[in-house]
Amino acid sequence: MPAICPQCGAQWPEGGSCRERFELCLAHEYEHPESYGAVHHLLVTGYMLQHNLYSSTAWIEARRMLAGFLSGELTPAGQRAQNRDRLGSDKRSWSITKGPRLAEFDSIRWTRTLADVPTDSPETYCAGVRAWTESLLNDTRALEDLHE
Ligand SMILES: [Zn+2]
Repeated sequence: MPAICPQCGAQWPEGGSCRERFELCLAHEYEHPESYGAVHHLLVTGYMLQHNLYSSTAWIEARRMLAGFLSGELTPAGQRAQNRDRLGSDKRSWSITKGPRLAEFDSIRWTRTLADVPTDSPETYCAGVRAWTESLLNDTRALEDLHE
């Protein structure tokens, strides 16, 4: 049965869900960490952002992190070190996943979804994940100023 994702609007003509596609991507990445796995940090952050799985504070942080990954200013290893210093659970008063969601989430119009990310080869997959996460940043550009 065809399905439409309630969070991001992705269309799944043959049925399924973003969650199922996300898990398929994770399985590819787990099996091929050197090729598919190269964009793991983008996949997870993008999926969490587009499905409103972060608290609003964490959402803004994660969007900033995604921008850093895509511009090359931030690496997954660098991010982990930074998070230990700044975002360790002993150092922050807010939760990553619990608490109020981003108030503006429902007003976001997504131009790309996980349904646009091919999984047939590592090359098309990595390029697809990049294009998808770039579009997430563009689609939410207005929120950057709101939460400065
Ligand atoms: Zn979705």
